[in-house]
Amino acid sequence: MDFLKRWLQERSDSNDYRRLFPVERSADGRISEAGKTGAPILDFSSNDYLALSTHPAMIAAGQAALTRYGTGVGAARLMSGDLMLFHELEEAVADLKSREAALVFGSGYMANIGAIPALAGRGDIIFSDRLNHASIHDGCRLSGAKLVRFRHNDPDHLEDCLRDKRGSNQALIVVESLYSMDGDRCPLADIVRLKNRHGCLLMVDEAHATGIFGNKGGGLIQAEGLEDEVEIAMGTFGKALGSYGAYIAGSETLKNFLINRARSFIYATGLPPAVIAASLKAVELLAGEPERRKELCDNAAYFKNALVAAGLPGKPGPSQIVPVMVGDSRLAVKIAAELRANSIFVTPVRPPTVPEGTARLRFSVTLHQSRRELADTAALLMEISNKLSVPVSFPAE
Ligand SMILES: *Cc1c(COP(=O)(O)O)cnc(C)c1O
Repeated sequence: MDFLKRWLQERSDSNDYRRLFPVERSADGRISEAGKTGAPILDFSSNDYLALSTHPAMIAAGQAALTRYGTGVGAARLMSGDLMLFHELEEAVADLKSREAALVFGSGYMANIGAIPALAGRGDIIFSDRLNHASIHDGCRLSGAKLVRFRHNDPDHLEDCLRDKRGSNQALIVVESLYSMDGDRCPLADIVRLKNRHGCLLMVDEAHATGIFGNKGGGLIQAEGLEDEVEIAMGTFGKALGSYGAYIAGSETLKNFLINRARSFIYATGLPPAVIAASLKAVELLAGEPERRKELCDNAAYFKNALVAAGLPGKPGPSQIVPVMVGDSRLAVKIAAELRANSIFVTPVRPPTVPEGTARLRFSVTLHQSRRELADTAALLMEISNKLSVPVSFPAE
């Protein structure tokens, strides 16, 4: 076991050691360090963008399902675990995404490592954006297909790769619609043009866009009117939807194919009833309380403007994910620690999650934060940056 200790020591030496941080969490989304009595902490690390995880209707829906069905479904859906609730949720998601059908997966990670290897295998080829989420990357590697990683959000480079390497077998292009670490948007229309020109399937991960963009809250595919062009639309219930789990939306055929072929669907116990019921309620709330996503987008704009006003150089990005670039891992950790001392929790994102030399603080704007708190946080960040003489900026485009 010495090897484990040595490995951890190396991690620690390079400032990349990860550790857990147990918290208490209250109904207003504030966290506090478990077992400590300090001030509540304002959480800029959560993806609970619409504050749905503490919404009374979500909690009530989960409680009702617990009472009616118990805590677990006891089996995979292909065994006896297939509650009607799953089908109600899948119909609601298909409607939200304006697609024929949807299939629920245990999590976003499981959706990506299940669907990608189902769709592409040995002899096939996958074109994947270099900044795609680890679960997409793992799905690609698990598939055994040839993997080509094109430059982030660069359709010209994708086109070069397609021209050189497309071949005659099945080809899949995988992108995210909103990138989790940079908060920038994929040029979806350009990607669609290329996938049509080169006869590829297109899979779009909407983990961070679902619930926020689009007239129904369906995501950026919806905002750009490209529903019929994206064969495989993936999204999660664990972020803006305040619950847990994930979906893949597309054709009825795709759904039946994944039921028969995606191993992370076939060989895993169905999600607990309370989780499914909460996800279903969240999808209903997107239609019932559309003002939430407008307020989130307004608050995100407010926060970015406050950063600009406080002197943060560069151009703010297009979403509720607001990265502030520091560069050096150690300095990013230092600024985060100063913010923590002021009851603000923001994660320093470091390599290998992001490329070397691009350590950053990733601020997530959520409806758990007030405008006053957003303004104070922006001012404090710049104060700390000046005090420590560590320059920070919005990411370069
Ligand atoms: C969070 C995330 C996932 C994983 O989803 P989980 O439900 O947390 O497993 C997949 N893809 C992207 C882009 C994500 O941000």
